[in-house]
Amino acid sequence: MAHDANLHAGIIGKPAPALGVTQWLDASGQPLADYGLDQMRGAYKLVFCFQDACPGCHLTGFPSLARMVDAFRGSSFISFAAVQTAFEDFESNGYERMVAAQRKYAVPIPFGHDAGEGREGAGSVLMNRYRNGGTPWFILIDPAGEVIYNHFHIDADKLIASMKRAEAALRAPPPDADTLTWQGVLELTRKGNPPPPRRLELSDAQWRQRLTPEQFRIMRQKGTERAHSSAMCSLFEPGRYACACCGTELFDAATKFDSKSGWPSFTQAVVPGAVAYHADHSHGMTRVETTCNVCDAHLGHVFPDGPAPSGLRYCINAVSLNKVSS
Ligand code: FE
Repeated sequence: MAHDANLHAGIIGKPAPALGVTQWLDASGQPLADYGLDQMRGAYKLVFCFQDACPGCHLTGFPSLARMVDAFRGSSFISFAAVQTAFEDFESNGYERMVAAQRKYAVPIPFGHDAGEGREGAGSVLMNRYRNGGTPWFILIDPAGEVIYNHFHIDADKLIASMKRAEAALRAPPPDADTLTWQGVLELTRKGNPPPPRRLELSDAQWRQRLTPEQFRIMRQKGTERAHSSAMCSLFEPGRYACACCGTELFDAATKFDSKSGWPSFTQAVVPGAVAYHADHSHGMTRVETTCNVCDAHLGHVFPDGPAPSGLRYCINAVSLNKVSS
């Protein structure tokens, strides 16, 4: 139930204040003398705020919390706490109801009760400090101690996926000297690309003879295929992907990953010099276009939001690639 319908709830982007919650039970239901952000050991911290008399807390809040806690059981990457931030119905949102909620859901995290300083019924201190919009309310705090998310709803699956990616990136070894990273890509767009292993230059008329109209539109006229239009997105068999214009091998299946973007995605080109990089200011954006360095065919773009260790996401038109077995 919303406490305040104003759109300015929350303190996203601000340093996380002390929780200010004085009554705590540990994960097994035993009283804790002192608990707060300093005792939460995870790099990230997620605080779930609820009231036992709040239907939405039971309908969506606790189930989302339970899924997230379960996904990070045994991990020190993210730690959780649940706090009953009582601000209305102080009897039905009393201390005993917090105890009952912890027993009911058996989520193995500390639970707090916060009905305000001094006397029961003054209204949650945490809620006022964090400007919660009501309950349920999720607060996510990053390793620097900044609130990076606060809202009634949380997409548990999305949060789990992005936290798992961040956790894996932390564990992954740093890129070695041969790995092209975003810094290297930007340098190539400024300083120019390395010489290609060979060149193939044909006239538009010659390309039209060799290519389908769709291939010509995309590869010779910098077009884009519809997202999710190719089965190649979900193909992860070993092998190489060659330029559909000139046959030069551009990507290896070992660097292919499921970006969910709807286009085949890779983290690295097969050898330096196979792919060329160009600053692309079309459509009001600044992006980096990728082309075949041999025949100048348009392939797609490369973005700095790929997985470790390169951090690159080559977003390539399936039409521009042929799978070859080598
Ligand atoms: Fe080519």
